[in-house]
Amino acid sequence: NPVGQASLATVQARIAQRALRPELPAGTVRYSAYRAAGGYRVLADCLSGRREPASVIDTLERAGLRGMGGAGFPAGRKWRTLRDQPAPRHVVVNIDEGEPGTFKDRHYLESDPHRFLEGALIAAWAIEADAIWLYLRDEYAAARALLRQCLAELQADPPGPLPAMHLRRGAGAYICGEESALIESIEGKRGLPRLRPPLVAQVGLFGHPTLAHNLETLHWVRDILAHGADWFADQGRHGRQGLRSYSVSGRVRHPGVHLAPAGITLRELIDEYCGGMAPGHELKAFFPGGASGGILPAAAADTPLDFDTLQAYDPHCFIGSAAVIVLSQQDSVREAALNAMRFFQHESCGQCTPCRVGTAKAAALMARPVWDAPLLEELADCMADASICGLGQAAPNPLRCVLKYFPEEVR
Ligand code: SF4
Repeated sequence: NPVGQASLATVQARIAQRALRPELPAGTVRYSAYRAAGGYRVLADCLSGRREPASVIDTLERAGLRGMGGAGFPAGRKWRTLRDQPAPRHVVVNIDEGEPGTFKDRHYLESDPHRFLEGALIAAWAIEADAIWLYLRDEYAAARALLRQCLAELQADPPGPLPAMHLRRGAGAYICGEESALIESIEGKRGLPRLRPPLVAQVGLFGHPTLAHNLETLHWVRDILAHGADWFADQGRHGRQGLRSYSVSGRVRHPGVHLAPAGITLRELIDEYCGGMAPGHELKAFFPGGASGGILPAAAADTPLDFDTLQAYDPHCFIGSAAVIVLSQQDSVREAALNAMRFFQHESCGQCTPCRVGTAKAAALMARPVWDAPLLEELADCMADASICGLGQAAPNPLRCVLKYFPEEVR
């Protein structure tokens, strides 16, 4: 039930209101401007044979481009795997963007939509896909109107032969951002994550091999191919490769989407990109990767923010989609963790017991004034070990962090 307790009439009224008032953003790079500035030239090179799939994939691998949706899987390796699978193949673009604190995909979609569309078309060319499926978060009504216009413009004056391109509205559920649940949703079914193996790269949409990518991953494809692998790779910091779009919220002076080097530390991100902490606030803790990526103490502020570095600091923390939520001495970390657990309880698809029952149990235990640490740890282990998908596996991360770094708040 994606709408909680709201009545059907309320939901219908909300949907109608959103559909009638899609507020298109100002300053979007539209089709003619994008093409005039060299847009779709890389795609045209691919379609005309001036570029080869093997060299394109090699460039992405050398650039170190990784999935920006959360998992961080190397993009080039994924494309290579897909090319080895039998046709027909599909490309799915995940624009469901439901992780709390994440808003970077919407930023890129609304400001420069053709850049990711070019990346998706290059991906479809490289793996010889028959169709591209764009799965858009239902709450993004303005983006949906914009995307419809972009597809119409592209199809009216294409830079070359295009595969079929479908735009699908999301189902309003967080779990539909999980790639196999997303695929189920496109197929017209309930968004329930699938058991793996097989991977969606082998058996995905309609049973066919599927390349699933987050929007931002595809956003970078054109620039990496135009400027070279080193252009992207060399922008990392502290030994890391590439760029990340950090969605920063919370107690900073300038929250928002900040494009910064991969591997930047939280302290550097706040000082160099966010104008420092908000007046009257001192750094106490931060979510490095939305609600799923755990909560780290201020002592971790000098750790490079990247896929593996945070997990080396704490195996229950990760950068995910780079949604950084900054907490100060005015915030309760235990309340933040409880809020995250209630979110997971609400969004659990209910398919497996460790997650469906575990999130509810954990939320009830965390609402008590004093936490039963051994019981919560045991429950967290069960959820992490036995849940089908990442929601149930990662849901206990914030609570584990509170027990580890802020025990005084729950004694
Ligand atoms: Fe559904 Fe949770 Fe199980 Fe994932 S872990 S399949 S969200 S019940």
